[in-house]
Amino acid sequence: PYTGPSKAEVYGLRRQFLSPAMFHHFKDPLMVVEGNMQYLYDETGRRYLDAFAGIVTVSVGHCHPRVTAAVMQQSKLLQHTTTIYLHPEVAQYGKELTDRMPGNLKVAYFVNSGSEANDMAIMMARLHTGNYDILALRNAYHGLSESTMGLLGHHTWKPNVPQGFGVRHLMNPDPYRGMLGSDGKAYAADAKAVIESATPGQVAGFVAETIQGVGGTVELAEGYLPAVYQMVRDAGGVCIADEVQTGFGRTGSDYWGFQNAGVQPDIVTMAKGIGNGLPLAAVVTTPEIAATLARRLHFNTFGGNPVCAAGGRAVLQAVDEDGIQANAAKVGAHLKEALLELQQRHDIIGDVRGRGLMLGVEMVRDRATKEPAGPETAQVMERLRHLGVLIGKGGLYGNVFRIKPPMCLTIADADFLIQAMDLALSEL
Ligand code: PMP
Repeated sequence: PYTGPSKAEVYGLRRQFLSPAMFHHFKDPLMVVEGNMQYLYDETGRRYLDAFAGIVTVSVGHCHPRVTAAVMQQSKLLQHTTTIYLHPEVAQYGKELTDRMPGNLKVAYFVNSGSEANDMAIMMARLHTGNYDILALRNAYHGLSESTMGLLGHHTWKPNVPQGFGVRHLMNPDPYRGMLGSDGKAYAADAKAVIESATPGQVAGFVAETIQGVGGTVELAEGYLPAVYQMVRDAGGVCIADEVQTGFGRTGSDYWGFQNAGVQPDIVTMAKGIGNGLPLAAVVTTPEIAATLARRLHFNTFGGNPVCAAGGRAVLQAVDEDGIQANAAKVGAHLKEALLELQQRHDIIGDVRGRGLMLGVEMVRDRATKEPAGPETAQVMERLRHLGVLIGKGGLYGNVFRIKPPMCLTIADADFLIQAMDLALSEL
């Protein structure tokens, strides 16, 4: 049993000594002191089904035994030296990760967070092409470092500071809420117009998630990505896929989200699920693009450290051995079907979308006007917590439930989540 400081003491310390910029979920904040696969435990020992996975980070399960063992074993041997010396774990990890990538995506640079990975990808695109302009989507989220903040397509996360030099935002190909409906080709035409009007006609690159995560599980309109990838390449740019949320089998049908859309990026960024909770991220690209960065010295103190590399290798093995991708496909399909059935009975559910275990439920007050039901979403989320289920929310209006659990979720867990949601929605 938990014997540490009380929740009230912890909350007091946090409010006094940690930045007020760190927001927390729930009016009565939840304290989590233990995790085991798809479950979390508070200080009283109460169990919660974790359907948000540390914001889509815990891929194979909290404290997965294989990952824990690898981290502990490496921690006892050697924790840190930096990449100025050779180390077997990071070298083997580079091979094992790139073995899982299609085509010529064969070189990895390990860093510590998704923001860092995207910063590096943007810099590589600019250095490699000699161009400056970067195309990003409205509704995008790629991190909150100074450069990735400029890629953001949400005013809610943007402080009023200079940012986004050379970033051009494109219309978001959102089939539910987008201005051009679900016509991928029409949104691609907007991208062409932006290249022709707002850039010198040459761009450094285009960056997008294949399913927007923070943006509210938005699947891009069919045909959009292949068309825009071609336009960007015709304008001298490279294509960057942000797989921070969609990678490692989460979409069920494919190991990587970009495979859902049938595109082959030039640079892929990864974080979150790659480390199952360890501070680990990566940029994977072609040998040609990777070589551009080597024209000057480049260094990252913790990138590729032995402990995270050992943990990252264990995550790859767990994804394979536990049949994670197949489970995401099976349980995800079951869950989506049940959510669609809930939509039939609850008018407030405007849209159900996503793939595998990356699902979204958009809440609206009126299905015709699509007026966002933000407060109702927050109310259901609170109620679900009291019923023992933790889910996330997102979207520009905070009205989309995000269901992205550790990928070891079972059918029984999915059914429990649905029953809890049904009850919470009925009480609105
Ligand atoms: N890309 C995507 C798609 C993300 O969802 C996030 C984090 N929510 C990031 C990048 C940034 O990652 P980090 O918080 O590790 O910097």
